Amino acid sequence: MPDYSKLFSLSGETVLVTGATRGIGAEIARQFAAAGAEVIGTATTAGGARKIAHRLNNASAGKVLDVASDESVQALMDGLSARPPTILVNNAGITRDKLLLRMKPEEWRQVINTNLDSAYRLCKACLRGMLKARRGRIINLSSVVGVAGAAGQGNYAAAKAGLLGFTRSLALEVAARGITVNAIAPGYIETDMTAGVSAARRDAVIAGIPAGRAGTPLDVAGAAIYLASPAAAYVTGITLHVNGGLWTG
Ligand code: NAP
Repeated sequence: MPDYSKLFSLSGETVLVTGATRGIGAEIARQFAAAGAEVIGTATTAGGARKIAHRLNNASAGKVLDVASDESVQALMDGLSARPPTILVNNAGITRDKLLLRMKPEEWRQVINTNLDSAYRLCKACLRGMLKARRGRIINLSSVVGVAGAAGQGNYAAAKAGLLGFTRSLALEVAARGITVNAIAPGYIETDMTAGVSAARRDAVIAGIPAGRAGTPLDVAGAAIYLASPAAAYVTGITLHVNGGLWTG
């Protein structure tokens, strides 16, 4: 008989959340800490790392990381070697939206590097510890755009679709080792990433959401808690859509 009181407990886990300064990553870090995990959240600046530590009331909770850099990932992992993460949330992401004919090579590469190559770097770096521990959870933040596409977001859609194939493949590689690998595909979530959208465009997007509202970071954090928890021990290789019905496949 499972112990239902512990079904969503993350106590004893060490979670690494990339991009935990704001938006979805900040909420995931907050909720994981509330569920009992030791949380390490990353920021691109020292000031951001200090804010994470302050918010989580834990002096060692904030670290600096550029997910687009091999050296930065290596430096972070060196610092975490005493207590390697048992849960990895690849959340950090950027957009550089342009129609393809106007998109500069740099805008393509930056988005692929930050949103997709980053998962290669961090999964590889964290897997060693998880394989040794014979347990682990990896959660990759994809997007509805990765399955539905979006005009002006070819670079972002390619990265987010790539993450889904990567998630499924890695899940198959490590399933027998007690490690699950899943993706979350949020719909339209109100954060800094969507703050630049015009009011008219926002209203049009929300009109197309069957739930009748934009998503919140907490909506996404709930899905992350589930995938990281004992409740999802037998769930791997999936994409959990969190979009209020915006896209149902
Ligand atoms: P956000 O508010 O723009 O926050 C982005 C986070 O990523 C920040 O913490 C930022 O850190 C970090 N970051 C950016 N570049 C980085 C780099 N090179 N290295 C390390 N960290 C970096 O974004 P969000 O809306 O919360 O999105 C979080 C994730 O969900 C992203 O992967 C995004 O693609 C995905 N998503 C979002 C939506 C949405 O509607 N908002 C929908 C679907 C999917 P700093 O603060 O230090 O810059």
